[in-house]
Amino acid sequence: MSGRTHTRTCPERTCVGCRERAAKTELLRIVAIKDACVPDPRGTLPGRGAYVHPTQVCLDQAVRRRAFTRALRAPGALDTKALRQYVEQMTVAEQATP
Ligand SMILES: [Zn+2]
Repeated sequence: MSGRTHTRTCPERTCVGCRERAAKTELLRIVAIKDACVPDPRGTLPGRGAYVHPTQVCLDQAVRRRAFTRALRAPGALDTKALRQYVEQMTVAEQATP
């Protein structure tokens, strides 16, 4: 252990959808605000965070197995409408890029 380097120390998180590990930067952070899942792309919101690939597939998987509810220690079901909209927009934006 000699000093700290910035290279190759990128933190990993597990996607709650596909359960695969990925660099934190590739995943979208989700926090629960009241009873809704809110995307936190800048990672600035306080509280527990869950990480998911910003794709419909991973989002669907996470919702189906209530991974957000568990990961965020929510007392009940979480509303994922805003999150879906966000991912949809991201997907569209990606496809529109030349
Ligand atoms: Zn995933």
